[in-house]
Amino acid sequence: MTEKKSYTIYEVQAAECTLEPMKCIHCGHVGEVTYYQDIEDAHCAICGECQLGETTKIPVTKQTIYDEICHTLTDYENPDDIEGTVDMVDFYELLVKIQNNWEGVITAQD
Ligand SMILES: [Zn+2]
Repeated sequence: MTEKKSYTIYEVQAAECTLEPMKCIHCGHVGEVTYYQDIEDAHCAICGECQLGETTKIPVTKQTIYDEICHTLTDYENPDDIEGTVDMVDFYELLVKIQNNWEGVITAQD
């Protein structure tokens, strides 16, 4: 079993200290996420998303959710990819996002 190389915002909050490097929960990039203690949130320099903030530059649509599914599956199928490996937490977060957006986005836009 290998050491975990990156941390999500959830792990940082649970630990109540800054853990490095952080992994973006939106685009999966590692090392470009900066945690801001004053707002208790982190911002990703790659995709421009706040990790927890309600207001994001890229609105959640069926397309962004679909892209994230593809991204997560692709990373899972290519564990040697430079963007890092996908673990249970990634799938959990993806499923939570789908669940949270099910009525408002996924089924509402039919
Ligand atoms: Zn990102």
